[in-house]
Amino acid sequence: MANTKTDEKLQKIAKDLLESGEVSLIIGYTKGSNPYRMRPLFITKAEEAGKLSFSSHAVQDLAVFLKKPEVKKFGKIGIIVKGCDEKAVNALIQEYQVSRDNIKIIGVECNGVIKQNLADKCETNVSESTVYDKCLICEEHIPVIYDFLAESEEPKLVLSGNVKPYSGIEKLESMSAEEKNAFWAQEFDKCIKCYACRQACPLCYCSRCIVEKNMPQWIDTNSEETGNAQWNLIRAYHLSGRCIGCGECERACPVNIPLMLINEKMAKDVYNMFGYKSGLDINAKPVFGVFSESDFNDFIK
Ligand code: SF4
Ligand code: SF4
Ligand code: SF4
Repeated sequence: MANTKTDEKLQKIAKDLLESGEVSLIIGYTKGSNPYRMRPLFITKAEEAGKLSFSSHAVQDLAVFLKKPEVKKFGKIGIIVKGCDEKAVNALIQEYQVSRDNIKIIGVECNGVIKQNLADKCETNVSESTVYDKCLICEEHIPVIYDFLAESEEPKLVLSGNVKPYSGIEKLESMSAEEKNAFWAQEFDKCIKCYACRQACPLCYCSRCIVEKNMPQWIDTNSEETGNAQWNLIRAYHLSGRCIGCGECERACPVNIPLMLINEKMAKDVYNMFGYKSGLDINAKPVFGVFSESDFNDFIK
């Protein structure tokens, strides 16, 4: 497939940055093994910039790579990000995992990404049902922060604007405690403890995850009822006030556990309690990294 104007712009930005030595590595997307796939690309030479590309199949959140030692060793890095993914970069900056001085944010306008399991079936019949749910409530089609921006030529995939944030969890919230318990017991029963959700998450970066600690053994590593619930709930709490809603955990889950329902519920509660949304302001303190006397709980006073 021919390069689009968006591709050409991304390629020029990357070439200039590598040629000038402003960055040593660019993380972006390249065309995949078929027209419905894109894959991550790492380039260190200006002459490789022509491989960069972007489309509505660029589903991966590339910010996940920023925490890797193999990437960090390059020092100054350029990264191509959609709006949702850029919030992960912001959250990593807020948590001192990435220095703003060491990163060039190459934003790309994004009009929605197509669900991978539908991608080859909907080339000529794209509708709102073929994009990921996060795109239906997206408020960052253009990233919040960028050093460079490549506008998109992709058609708008989210047309109605009828879907409201947090509407996906209304059904869950209307359930009784017993019904919620039964719902999640059934979902967590499917978990095979592969930890793909953790590996795909840009904000799961502990050098030693709690599931790998065995002195004491906090979480049963077998795939069984109690340990599965412990794992998924502890991960949800570790991500509360931090998850930026990229949806990569749910996309990675091989048994289709609706992890975004948990993430969305946590995000809603954090917003209602503290007026905080993750990844929007690199100068804000992470919501659970500070306390205020005006917080609604009084145990801290
Ligand atoms: S949430 Fe927004 S930025 Fe992210 S993939 Fe969907 S439309 Fe693009
Ligand atoms: S918990 Fe899931 S949705 Fe949230 S930042 Fe991590 S991968 Fe993205
Ligand atoms: S990706 Fe899914 S199956 Fe794997 S550990 Fe996470 S929740 Fe469990």
